[in-house]
Amino acid sequence: MGYYDKQEIQILRRKTGPPEFEPVCWRGSMTCIFCHIIARQLPTEIIYENADLVVFKDINPQAPVHLLIVPKKHIESINALDEKTAGIFSKMVLAAKAMAERHGVQSGYRLMINNGREAGQVVYHLHMHFLGGWGKRPVKG
Ligand code: 5GP
Ligand code: ZN
Repeated sequence: MGYYDKQEIQILRRKTGPPEFEPVCWRGSMTCIFCHIIARQLPTEIIYENADLVVFKDINPQAPVHLLIVPKKHIESINALDEKTAGIFSKMVLAAKAMAERHGVQSGYRLMINNGREAGQVVYHLHMHFLGGWGKRPVKG
């Protein structure tokens, strides 16, 4: 999961029109789903964007507010970060803070990064899960 082959990409392009730019992360015949979202080649609503990252809703939400904070640069995971690229981490945290304000969930939210297969990482493009909004759920009874 998380990677498309060339045939699937052709089908997506027919649906979404010509790409704004080519994905940068071909690995053999496979490419990365989040790079396609960033390149606007998949019909995903980007709810926040700056020079370094994008934010969109998780397709399979595990909380009332479940966002993905995703660097534009293709970095596979924390394991691939180095002194030069690790600065993206503070930018991701600041984006999380901005999202908490925007969604009115400053009272409680969780930030999570799955790193590696054993931790449940399925998309190998670094991303931070933003989970919150439990207080917004209607109280039963
Ligand atoms: P991971 O397990 O790698 O940390 O999380 C990947 C997340 O990406 C999952 O929560 C999954 O629901 C989400 N996801 C996978 N494919 C798509 C997609 O095409 N669109 C969106 N919005 N989210 C996706
Ligand atoms: Zn990517």
